[in-house]
Amino acid sequence: MNNAQNYSKLIKEEAKRLGFLSCGISKAEFLEIEAPRLERWLNNNNQGSMSYMENHFDKRLDPTKLVPDSKSVISLLLNYYPSEFQTEDSYKISKYAYGKDYHEVIKAKLKELHYFIETEIGDVSGRAFVDSAPVLDKAWAAKSGLGWIGKHSNLLTQKVGSFYFIAELIIDLELEYDYATTDHCGTCTACIDACPTEAITEPYVVDGSKCISYFTIELKDQLPIEMRGKLEDWMFGCDVCQDVCPWNKFSKPHYEPLFNPNPELLNFTKKDWEEITEDVFKKVFQKSAVKRTKFAGLQRNINFLK
Ligand code: SF4
Ligand code: SF4
Repeated sequence: MNNAQNYSKLIKEEAKRLGFLSCGISKAEFLEIEAPRLERWLNNNNQGSMSYMENHFDKRLDPTKLVPDSKSVISLLLNYYPSEFQTEDSYKISKYAYGKDYHEVIKAKLKELHYFIETEIGDVSGRAFVDSAPVLDKAWAAKSGLGWIGKHSNLLTQKVGSFYFIAELIIDLELEYDYATTDHCGTCTACIDACPTEAITEPYVVDGSKCISYFTIELKDQLPIEMRGKLEDWMFGCDVCQDVCPWNKFSKPHYEPLFNPNPELLNFTKKDWEEITEDVFKKVFQKSAVKRTKFAGLQRNINFLK
């Protein structure tokens, strides 16, 4: 086994020990296949008011421009599929936001992984990214063999579906690289048919500006009136395209205690949400990513759904 193979093996074993579902590695280089796709998506204005998606176009396609001297992109998946769900009579929150803000949980794990590399391998510099605009995380995970990008544009695996976070560690060490897997969407169109706002405009293309996640989290203005009655009770994010995906029958609950929700989040009924005060909001979502919408944002969404 040469050094690169040996290092890759060590890193993957440590990633598993840290609780990641899987780890795949790619050479840090220009994402040739992704470049025209991203350009087309932006030219069609699919980013809506998320103008940060337009920034750093070159850096987003080439990690060596983002992290100087980088050699490898290590992609990691962390499961967030819960074992308990919100009550039926409730406005809905995307499952990824049930527990503690994933940015913090994953950053801590990536820091540990980086520390392991430095202690076991040597002086290796790098940067960690968690759901960060300049890195095309799904493209890197797919290139590294962790899954394929489904028609709903999420990363998808045959073994565990799609309910996991994707993160990257970009480092200046050469490693052994993995290969992409094949696409197993076949003739299925369940996600396209089920999307409440017809945001999946064609297979593999999501118009971000029509997606419920965008409306309920990113959009800072009033929600567009033509969306009234279409949001299917989603008050933060939307899981419809993932919930209907046949591969998600294979999702298994995570075992990360920090992702367990506040019990009130699961038990609150529509009425409780409609009457929520700012103090209760702060308590229920103390460390959650839902805080991103702020109290006023969540109230705006609830009022729109009422
Ligand atoms: S998250 Fe919801 S709104 Fe967005 S593409 Fe999927 S089903 Fe459609
Ligand atoms: S629902 Fe069907 S088409 Fe959509 S991502 Fe899943 S397998 Fe692919």
